[in-house]
Amino acid sequence: MVKKDYGQFQIEQLNPIQIEAALKKRSLIYLPLGAMEWHGMHLPMGLDSLTSHGVCLRAAEKTGGLVMPPLYYGMTGSIWHHPYTILIEEEEVLLQILMTTLQRLETDNIEKVVIFTGHFALKQLEMLARLEERWNAQKRVLDVIVMSISECPNVTMKADHGAIFETSILAQIKPGLVRLENLPDKDVEPANDPEGNSMGDHRRDRNNVLFGVFGDDPRFYDKDEAETLFDTIVEWVAEIVE
Ligand SMILES: [Zn+2]
Repeated sequence: MVKKDYGQFQIEQLNPIQIEAALKKRSLIYLPLGAMEWHGMHLPMGLDSLTSHGVCLRAAEKTGGLVMPPLYYGMTGSIWHHPYTILIEEEEVLLQILMTTLQRLETDNIEKVVIFTGHFALKQLEMLARLEERWNAQKRVLDVIVMSISECPNVTMKADHGAIFETSILAQIKPGLVRLENLPDKDVEPANDPEGNSMGDHRRDRNNVLFGVFGDDPRFYDKDEAETLFDTIVEWVAEIVE
């Protein structure tokens, strides 16, 4: 597989001449959001930001426009006391950063901003709903679309936390960062979910084989399924944006 370079869509890597040329073709900016959050022994802390950034870059390849670097700060969720996890508790902190970003992009005459979140804790989604409401309360030139990776209606796999969904998405973007070999062999130590519930509090036990992972066992990751899932999500984003 030839590794594709998406640098031409990454605004932080471009100079003003390149940015202007790209925005002249399509006045559109993607703003990927995520978090710094425990995702199990097999995944990196910044997964939500890495996945949202990856989806946005591929969507930009289809629609035109540019992609902002992802935010690695997200709103608190149920994972917050897991190691190395840094989540924001006050909604205003993130709202202010996002409002400032939108105001600045509007000053630059950007027509449309897509805020795409890979982190979908309830508080994150509520914060984004508030942002939309606040932004649209004033008559604006800049059009804002808020989307969450968890809300694609065309996929059969349910969004999860560090489980098969998120593992599959990251594997399509940065396969080297998915380390399923860090988890015990699934035949030797299968998931021990009471009544098959893969979202239960037993996964909060440090000794659980899938500690801090919520959703179906990522060790059943399948390359073809991952590809379909990922392509469907990218297609969905591009379609909404069009
Ligand atoms: Zn996540």
